[in-house]
Amino acid sequence: MLIDAHIHLDQYKDEEISSLLEEVDYVIAVSMQLVSCERTLHLSKTYHQVKAAFGFHPEQSLPGQRDEDALFDWIRAHADDMVAVGEVGLPYYLRQEQAIDNRPYVALLERFIILAKELDKPIVLHAVYEDAAIVCDLLEKHQLRKAHFHWFKGDKAVVKRMIQHGYFISITPDCFYEEEIQQLIQAYPIERMMIETDGPWPFEGPFTNKRTSPWMMHSTIEVIASIKGLSTQEAAQIITQNTKNFYRL
Ligand SMILES: [Zn+2]
Repeated sequence: MLIDAHIHLDQYKDEEISSLLEEVDYVIAVSMQLVSCERTLHLSKTYHQVKAAFGFHPEQSLPGQRDEDALFDWIRAHADDMVAVGEVGLPYYLRQEQAIDNRPYVALLERFIILAKELDKPIVLHAVYEDAAIVCDLLEKHQLRKAHFHWFKGDKAVVKRMIQHGYFISITPDCFYEEEIQQLIQAYPIERMMIETDGPWPFEGPFTNKRTSPWMMHSTIEVIASIKGLSTQEAAQIITQNTKNFYRL
């Protein structure tokens, strides 16, 4: 059995969730904002396989100060119900669509990094391409070591830096057809690797028109095993153990 290290479980319908959870040992269910945090909390109380992370997804408009403070108060009040702070990060894709200022997003992310440090929790990061170096600067500044860069993409220099600091990445089902992700698997130590679906985000190739669900991770394991020269069983065992250790499951 595998662990889905990053899924938006709150975005699935109630009737889909229990069958989806039969495919996995655990899921790390990340949150988008306060309403999403509340639903994720409810799911984690309902299903033992669901481990909650609370945060604010960066690919959306920023909250006002009152909403931001309310979210931080809520997360502190539910610290015992969460395994991590997340999903948080920087709005790379939003900036490709519109001219927005990255600085207030960096400030909010820094506040989440300080919160993770205060609560002694790992952090789940959405930080790709040039944003990854900014996030590495912040992590180093605050000496937060337990960082998970989910669905990571970036250049060789930042990959090297992330490996040196022992940060984790997770691999998505697109490794089946994306050369960029296959090269990342090649470059990154398997000891710092997890797998995820980022569901319900849809995938292509053999997954076209299929509802994203943790069974897709079996293909991910096969790709990782073949690139790393391991059996699928060995790769699955290492990756599951990595995830259990990282999230203290
Ligand atoms: Zn996500």
